[in-house]
Amino acid sequence: MDSKTRYNVIIVGAGVSGISAAKVLAENGVEDLVILEASDRIGGRIRKQDFGGVSVELGAGWIAGVGGKQANPVWELANKSGLRTFFSDYSNARYNIYDRSGKIFPSGMAADSYKKAVESAIQRLRSEEANCNGADVAMNFDFAQISAPKTPIELAIDFILHDFEMAEVEPISTYIDFGEREFLVADERGFEHLLYRMAETFLFTSEGQILDNRLQLNKV
Ligand SMILES: Cc1cc2nc3c(=O)[nH]c(=O)nc-3n(C[C@H](O)[C@H](O)[C@H](O)COP(=O)(O)OP(=O)(O)OC[C@H]3O[C@@H](n4cnc5c(N)ncnc54)[C@H](O)[C@@H]3O)c2cc1C
Repeated sequence: MDSKTRYNVIIVGAGVSGISAAKVLAENGVEDLVILEASDRIGGRIRKQDFGGVSVELGAGWIAGVGGKQANPVWELANKSGLRTFFSDYSNARYNIYDRSGKIFPSGMAADSYKKAVESAIQRLRSEEANCNGADVAMNFDFAQISAPKTPIELAIDFILHDFEMAEVEPISTYIDFGEREFLVADERGFEHLLYRMAETFLFTSEGQILDNRLQLNKV
């Protein structure tokens, strides 16, 4: 950036937050802005990597919060961009295995094995817990019954299901506002394609490259 150049707005970081903020400002007539990005690319933690000839996501891989009352802007953008996504069915399983066509495979077997493993682990932990504190703990565990985690097992499960993945405890606003469905992004262009689509609505681009001097890469 030319040190003599003055901007009214400096946005630090060209991840989805920075690009979205710049887009909203530009759409509202604030053109006098610059986005400083420390790395050599936009996208931040939305990033793909070539692995064995296919694109894999290193960062964000799912669009969470679909099917609710409010429209999720990320989901709307994904649809507009024709991003290839597949429904993640967590009704019986914590993780889904997909075949190349995006079909969940083999749904019954994966779900059953996972359920059995979880049930047996919970049962073991429950009896260990009962041994530890002598409490009469019910063996039938129902996730839906948990309002606030209290026991060590509930806290551990809550950590894995919520804090570790979502960095927040329930209720999670994404699911409350936008719905509970989740879609896996499986697109060769990467999840980051959305960022480029967003950027090209207000930054000058040519042949897929952002050539606008309001985006300064390699600039901390
Ligand atoms: C492994 C992983 C999996 C994830 N899975 C999902 C998922 O499935 N679904 C989902 O919705 N979310 C997921 N997330 C979270 C999601 O990726 C982030 O919430 C989102 O990308 C954050 O965007 P951001 O713009 O706020 O920050 P970032 O993407 O971190 O962008 C910040 C940018 O600022 C730049 N920067 C920082 N400091 C400076 C500085 N001083 N000067 C210039 N530039 C600077 C950085 O280089 C970076 O490009 C995942 C994250 C990770 C890491």
